[in-house]
Amino acid sequence: MARQRYSDFLKQLYGTRVQKLNVNAGFTCPNRDGSLGTGGCIYCNNASFTPAFGRTTSGVSQQLLDAKQFYAGKYSSMKYLAYFQSFTGTYASVNKLRSLYEEALAVSDVIGLVISTRPDCISNEILDLLSDINRQHRIIVEIGVETIHEHTLALINRCHSWQCASDAIKLIASCGIHVGAHLILGLPGESEDDMLATANAVAQLPVTTVKFHQLQVLRGTILAQQWERGELDLIGWTPQQYASFCHRIINSLPERIVVERMVSTAPPALLLHPKWNLKPAQFREIFQNIL
Ligand code: SF4
Repeated sequence: MARQRYSDFLKQLYGTRVQKLNVNAGFTCPNRDGSLGTGGCIYCNNASFTPAFGRTTSGVSQQLLDAKQFYAGKYSSMKYLAYFQSFTGTYASVNKLRSLYEEALAVSDVIGLVISTRPDCISNEILDLLSDINRQHRIIVEIGVETIHEHTLALINRCHSWQCASDAIKLIASCGIHVGAHLILGLPGESEDDMLATANAVAQLPVTTVKFHQLQVLRGTILAQQWERGELDLIGWTPQQYASFCHRIINSLPERIVVERMVSTAPPALLLHPKWNLKPAQFREIFQNIL
C-alpha cells in the first residue's frame, strides 16, 4: 500500500476537493490565560499562522465568507473546511463551542471542520460534542504533541505530558474521529534519534495524519529571547539536511499514516531562525531531489 497524499485523503473523506479556511474564533489557551500558565509555549506566536482574514474583529461566518472569496476565483467548484487553528480550538464552554462550530458549518460550501487543540482540552462533554458533529459532518482533530520527551516538554513549557497527548489521541480516535498529530522537529536539546523516537511512538497511536515542521524562532517569543542570548542548543540543519531527515521521519511511519506537511514558513518579518527563505514549493523540490 502506497502512502496516500494529504489532498487525496481529504478528497476521499469528503468526496470532493476541499480547501481549509483558517478561522480565528477568538479562543485563548490555558497556557496563556493563567489556568496553566501565562507565558505559553516558548515558541508560540499565533500571528505566524493567522492570515489577515482571520482577525477576530469579524465573526466566524464573515471570516469564512472573506476567505472563500479569496479562493473563489481560483477554484469555482471548491468546498471548504473551517480550520480552527489559532490558539486552542476546544478551549471554551461546550455551548460556546457548539455555537461557533455550527456557525462555521452553516456557511455555504463549508462541509467539515478541522480543529486544532491541546491534548488537555478534551473533556468528555467536548468529546460528546465532537462526536455529535462528526456524525453529520466529518471532522478532523489535530492534537499538539510536539515531542514524547518529558524533559523537552518541560523546557518548551507545554504544561502537559506525553501520556496526556497519547491518552487524548486514543480517546478521540475511539469515537470514530480522525486524529492528526502535530510534531516539531529540532526542539532544543533533541537529537535526530530523539525525534525519530517521537515519530515511532506516535506511529503506535491511532492517528490518521501527522504534520510536522522545523522549529522556527519567531520574534516576540521566549524562544527568541533565549536564542538572542545564545542559550539554545539547536540543530543547525540546512534545507537539504532537513529534507533528508524528513525522509527518515516519513520512512519510519507506517504507510497508513498520511503526512500532511513537513515544513513551515513563518512570515519573514517574524522569523529569526532558520532563515531558509524558501517557499513550500521550493522545499518540496529539494525534498523530491533527495528521493
Ligand atoms: S502553542 Fe498552542 S498550546 Fe502553546 S501557548 Fe500557543 S496556543 Fe497555547
